[in-house]
Amino acid sequence: MGGHTLIVTNDFPPKTGGIDLFALEMTRRFPPDSVTVVAFGGPDADAGDAEMPWEVVRLPVRTLLPTPRTISAVCELARERGADSVWFASSTPLGFMARKVRHRTGVRRIVATSHGHEVWWARIPGGRQVLRRIGDSVDALTFISKYTRARIAPALSPAARRRMVEVSPGVNPWGSGVGLPAEGEVPRGEELGEASADGGRARARHGLGEGPVVLSVSRLVPRKGQDRLIELWPSVVAVHPEARLVIVGTGSYEETLLEMAEASAASSSIVLTGRLPDADLADLYAAAAVFAMPCRSRLGGLEVEGLGIVFLEAQAAGVPVVVGRSGGAPEAVIDGETGLVVDPGDLGAIRGAVLELLGDPERAARMGAAGRAWVTSSWTWDARYEVLAGLLGRG
Ligand code: GDP
Repeated sequence: MGGHTLIVTNDFPPKTGGIDLFALEMTRRFPPDSVTVVAFGGPDADAGDAEMPWEVVRLPVRTLLPTPRTISAVCELARERGADSVWFASSTPLGFMARKVRHRTGVRRIVATSHGHEVWWARIPGGRQVLRRIGDSVDALTFISKYTRARIAPALSPAARRRMVEVSPGVNPWGSGVGLPAEGEVPRGEELGEASADGGRARARHGLGEGPVVLSVSRLVPRKGQDRLIELWPSVVAVHPEARLVIVGTGSYEETLLEMAEASAASSSIVLTGRLPDADLADLYAAAAVFAMPCRSRLGGLEVEGLGIVFLEAQAAGVPVVVGRSGGAPEAVIDGETGLVVDPGDLGAIRGAVLELLGDPERAARMGAAGRAWVTSSWTWDARYEVLAGLLGRG
């Protein structure tokens, strides 16, 4: 497959959210000399770029916006590199420049990828107009879940709606699915093998004893529902005194969650680890009996979970999941088979789901195995890349 693709993105390492991971997992699958990543700048933004096998051009702004200067820089790069396709890894707002890029360069195919936050854009008047223009300027606007598609599509023209294609997140075939390199590290591949995961190592490292571990991994923000887990935890420990709740990640809600954990009657069995390297995370998945993230929608449905890569990653590691009913999150699990979907506003329901799985380890193990089989066959980054590459005319 020939051609050169410009990947224009505000989401890329060293940032570490779900969209950054999405952009990285797609980028690493292109032949490295056939892509140029155009990304944000700022202090240390380029720390790991030299080790990446593809070219990364950092523009001198912390956030790329479709300003005349940025559009000119993108067009110049497209011409210099002979790019025939452009991928906007997150459609808003950068996809707004698609029309100009097409007119001013030899680029023939343009694809923009929507995630969870486009649901918000689709709900506000100015945002809808931006989305409509993007939809009309690109060859395909992709979506990550049926939920987000249903919310975004009404903002688009009928023609753009017909060009929507599903490209959801995935996991890596080698096991746990965790694949984001640590800051400044070379993007990793197969060496993060299943065999390297060691639950005993995680138990020793975090002082978890021998009891069942309930794990939650994600950015620490109110939407993800780690506060609910801390609230209900004493009632879980009342039934399973040896159980441990392990919350991994960092974010704006960290201080609040730390205070809640400290004030809890079950504080000695709650561990907040902060951000961990992927290898530690793989060890924790190997130790976990249950993965729980009772995510919730906020701001009247403007802020939702688009899908939740962490649910896929947990299932890929063979761990059953407890999933909050928010946005597209229920699509990341087969309710009753690979995990349980709960109403995130109902503390009793979340507690019930966690206890149901802790109380029946055989069923939990069956669910974990089913989740692993489902996710590693139906949710791979490799398959997503094939779709994206095809849309970019590189299939
Ligand atoms: P989003 O940021 O809201 O899109 O959340 P997602 O659940 O969709 O994706 C978050 C990604 O960041 C997943 O791949 C997680 O494994 C990863 N992640 C979140 N916190 C940590 C952490 O502390 N360590 C590591 N290694 N990965 C993390």
